[in-house]
Amino acid sequence: MANSITVTSPLLPPIEEFIPLLQRIWDSKRLTNGGPFHEQLEQELAEYLGVQHISLFCNGTLALVTALQALRITGEVITTPYSFVATAHSLLWNNLKPVFVDIDPVTMNLDPRRIAEAITPATSAILPVHCYGIPCDVEGIQAVADTYGLKVIYDAAHAFGVRHNGVSILNNGDLSILSFHATKVFNTFEGGAIISPDEKTKRRIDYLKNFGFADEVTVIAPGINGKMNELQAAFGVLQLRHIDDALRRRQKVFEYYRSALESIEGISLLEQPQGLDWNYSYFPILIDGERFGTSRDAVYDRYRAENILVRRYFYPLIAEFPMYRGLSSSDVSQLNNAYTVSRQVLCLPIYPDLDLKAQQRIIEILLTAQVPLPHA
Ligand SMILES: *Cc1c(COP(=O)(O)O)cnc(C)c1O
Repeated sequence: MANSITVTSPLLPPIEEFIPLLQRIWDSKRLTNGGPFHEQLEQELAEYLGVQHISLFCNGTLALVTALQALRITGEVITTPYSFVATAHSLLWNNLKPVFVDIDPVTMNLDPRRIAEAITPATSAILPVHCYGIPCDVEGIQAVADTYGLKVIYDAAHAFGVRHNGVSILNNGDLSILSFHATKVFNTFEGGAIISPDEKTKRRIDYLKNFGFADEVTVIAPGINGKMNELQAAFGVLQLRHIDDALRRRQKVFEYYRSALESIEGISLLEQPQGLDWNYSYFPILIDGERFGTSRDAVYDRYRAENILVRRYFYPLIAEFPMYRGLSSSDVSQLNNAYTVSRQVLCLPIYPDLDLKAQQRIIEILLTAQVPLPHA
């Protein structure tokens, strides 16, 4: 749409910087299947993120699907209803049954205190999401997992580069997955990755993303084609040179919003935990229509009318979609916190080159959307 402001806009380094990398691909004639840029990006990302082993994928969804396959997860998996739909879809693609558990209303992540009551003899894993890049209660989740012998796979699609007390949050659980989709903080147009704790697990994942081939004549499992190609990997290498600058610019946008919106009646902001090096990936606000004087959806419509494409991440809940709503755990009366948040949330535009004037307009529209409720 012409002149629209989108909720996010991809990090695109100058095209002149990409040309020499393209030239190298043309010269090498290596287009995919673990070429030089693929190797380089795996190494540079592992170092940048502070993780041991990383396997690149053509998108985050196939990384999720493969992570579950790699750990041989069976039966039921406990997950959050408050996420992008791919989180739960990855379970259906593995013939697993999603079991939705409510979120903590402060972190908006799976509430570990609610997990135990959802465990049955068929439960084999927990699939939490670090929503908006805010870390889950990883210790609480690990304690439940250890007590009941469950695997933990983190959907860390929002958590690129996030550190807590100086340590990457991607090292928690058995595996973590990232998305490098164009809308994410770090992108390879489409892309994703799995973070593994050890060499052996990484090797298995690398086989599974290449149809299950262990060598020319050996296929160990019905793997998928999840490989990242050289164009994507080269773009990732380029982008990594610009990521720190992009994160600083995101932080500036974030802080300007926060100072303008932190004390508005009826609007609440995400709480940033102590000791967090965050990635400023989203700027969600919760609008309490009663107290603010205007409903979330009225504000949403107002923005749309002004060509500002804010998003209701995440609305509806995954549990409300047709392929999930028949599950007993999809009953929204058991998912009160997630349900309430999904009816109040609005994500405002945040990206490195969002300029100050645009941001001031976005804030202005929000504040003038407020009309007093008529007296009863
Ligand atoms: C973006 C996203 C995914 C899917 O990643 P793709 O790379 O788009 O396939 C999965 N989970 C969450 C929470 C996401 O935001």
